[in-house]
This record gives sequence, structure tokens and C-alpha cells, in this order.
Amino acid sequence: VKDRGKAHYQFYRPEMNSEIQNVVSLEMHLRKAIEKQELILLFQPQIELSTVKVKSFEALIRWNCSDLGMISPSDFIPLAEETGLIIPIGNWVIETACKQIRNWNDKGYEDIRIAINISPKQFQQTNLVNKIKTMLEKFHIEPSSLEIEITEGAMGDKQETIPILKSLKEIGVTISVDDFGTGYSSLSYLKQFPIDVLKIDQSFVKDVLNNEKDAAITTTIIHLGRSLGLEVIAEGVEKAEQAEFLLNAQCQKAQGYYFARPLVVEEIEKRFLLK
Ligand code: C2E
Ligand code: CA
Ligand code: CA
Ligand code: CA
Repeated sequence: VKDRGKAHYQFYRPEMNSEIQNVVSLEMHLRKAIEKQELILLFQPQIELSTVKVKSFEALIRWNCSDLGMISPSDFIPLAEETGLIIPIGNWVIETACKQIRNWNDKGYEDIRIAINISPKQFQQTNLVNKIKTMLEKFHIEPSSLEIEITEGAMGDKQETIPILKSLKEIGVTISVDDFGTGYSSLSYLKQFPIDVLKIDQSFVKDVLNNEKDAAITTTIIHLGRSLGLEVIAEGVEKAEQAEFLLNAQCQKAQGYYFARPLVVEEIEKRFLLK
């Protein structure tokens, strides 16, 4: 009976108010994150399996909030999407990545590529193409050294997506499908969209050694990508045996904790660029 009484009064749970306040406060903090220079980009190397060379990196955002501590993208990107803050944050990512490419080029690393994540709202924004073009020009970088990762979900309506991707392709930017295999209509858009790279989702890679279905799906995506002339990257590689499986299946690149976690610029330079 006592328990029931408790349940009844759940409506007045004080946490409820604080949950709402937390979201409001998170948004308030996020609005100031850029000017307070609390955002940083980490870089995760993508290893070319046959040569073990590293020439490309995925940029992954982190928010080191002065009041709330380190916040992971899965906790603030959805909020940024809802509030429209993804536009200034996304622009910051584009600019910071381009600046980093310039900086590495200046240090003599000419042949490198940085992949950035583009969220659905950002992709549908009308001036994305111009924004990217402006940044490539501002930092005088080779367009193909910037890669944009878009999920199948973000691609949405074909009628709107094809012209955007075609414009990006005309500029020369590298286009990559993130989390490949987890969305819809994959095969029809492989035919219609100007794609350069397929990223096999980590959910398939995770059990590639002990689940026959995951192994079959992974192998099939690699063959599909290769026969279409695309580069294939496997994500979430945590074990040597997974890397070996992927190499045998002729997957070109792999990314994951087995090789390296997302790292700060200095660490990337020390471990992967300075020879
Ligand atoms: P994603 O694009 O699918 O990125 C892959 C996630 O897997 C990253 O999480 C990465 O740190 C993590 N990861 C890498 N290797 C391994 C591994 O071996 N094992 C496991 N279990 N995980 C691994 P992170 O950095 O927390 O990012 C989460 C998501 O947040 C990303 O998923 C992406 O959707 C989004 N995100 C990150 N940075 C940005 C950004 O700059 N802009 C936008 N719009 N979204 C971003
Ligand atoms: Ca990604
Ligand atoms: Ca991914
Ligand atoms: Ca993902």
C-alpha cells in the first residue's frame, strides 16, 4: 500500500523539474560553447589495411563545458539538431577541419584527408555547398582532402539530395556514406548518388568473427563497394582478428580502438604523421 502511495505521488517527482531544467541549461551552455572555445575536434586514424599506412582521419567533436564537464556528441548533437544550434556548430566543424588540413599541408603532409560528420539538418540547410566552398577557398585546400560523412537517413528525399551531392561532387569534395547498411534504400541510391566511400557500420563489424550473418553482410558490402569502384572503410575495429578478417575480405581501410581512439592533434602528429 505504501508503495502504491509512492507511485501515485510520482507526478510530483522533483527530478522531473530538474530534468527539464537540465535540458534548458544544457541548451543555454551549448549556445555559448563556440565563443567560449569549449568545442574541440579529435581525430581518429583510418588505416589502409594492406600497407598499414594512415592518410585519412575522421573528425569527432567533443564539448568540454566549463560548468558541466566533458559531454559526448551523442548527448548534445541531438539537442543541437532540435534547437538549430547544429548550424553554427557544424560551420565551426567545417572551418576547423579545413584549417587543420591547411596546417598539416603546411607541415608537409600534402596527401591527407579529413572526414567530417554532417548531420541531417545541416545537410538540408540551403547554403551548405557555398559554406564548404568558401572554407576550401579561404584555406586554399584541395577539395578532395575534405570528406563529408552523411548517413542514409540524412539523405532523405532524393529530389533534394541529388542536386546537393552533385554540387559537392562538382567542387571535388569526397562523399562518404556513414553507418552503411543500417538505413533504407541503400542500393538504389548507390546507383544514383555520386558516392566515393562506404563506411560499414560498427554493428556489423562488432560480431564479424562469431556471427555468420554479420560476416556475410560485411563481406557482401565490401564486394559491392569494390565492384562499384568505391573505397570501403570498416568502423569499430577493436581486435586484431577483425582487422585480419577485413584484410582477407579485401576491405581497403579500417578504423577503431584496435588501431587508435579519437586523439588530439598533437597525438595524431606524434603517432601518425611525424616520421
Ligand atoms: P559516428 O559518426 O558513427 O562515429 C563513430 C563513433 O564510434 C564515434 O563516437 C567514435 O568515437 C566511436 N568509435 C570509434 N572506434 C570505435 C571502436 O573501435 N569501438 C567502439 N565501440 N566505438 C568506436 P563519438 O565520437 O562518441 O561520436 C558519436 C556520434 O556523434 C558519431 O557517430 C556522429 O554521429 C556524431 N558526431 C561526432 N562528431 C560530430 C560532428 O562533428 N558533427 C556531427 N553532426 N555529428 C558528430
Ligand atoms: Ca561518422
Ligand atoms: Ca559511423
Ligand atoms: Ca553512428
